[in-house]
Amino acid sequence: MKVAVVGAGISGLVSAYELAKSGVKVVVYEKEHSLGDHAKTVTVDGVDLDLGFMVFNRISTVRGCFSNFIR
Ligand SMILES: Cc1cc2nc3c(=O)[nH]c(=O)nc-3n(C[C@H](O)[C@H](O)[C@H](O)COP(=O)(O)OP(=O)(O)OC[C@H]3O[C@@H](n4cnc5c(N)ncnc54)[C@H](O)[C@@H]3O)c2cc1C
Repeated sequence: MKVAVVGAGISGLVSAYELAKSGVKVVVYEKEHSLGDHAKTVTVDGVDLDLGFMVFNRISTVRGCFSNFIR
């Protein structure tokens, strides 16, 4: 099986990684010149800065915030 993943943000990269690990042929298409988008890392004066993530939310936190919307 071949799968095309559109977008190399964290969702696309993790999806591609998991698919490739299970033996699927994966091609990732990204319109920008770098990976990660909202969760990308940039290097400034030799220091790596993560632009997106400040906390790694547990699923219980997400459920709590969006409990009205999750069925
Ligand atoms: C300042 C900031 C702080 C944050 N803090 C947190 C935090 O503390 N904890 C947390 O859990 N989350 C946090 N988030 C949210 C988190 O970073 C995002 O929810 C997550 O990175 C989104 O990932 P994604 O892969 O779904 O989307 P994106 O990162 O938006 O990636 C989508 C990718 O698809 C590409 N793309 C779109 N259209 C096309 C196309 N037609 N062809 C090819 N490529 C395409 C885009 O260029 C992009 O690279 C934060 C976000 C920001 C901006």
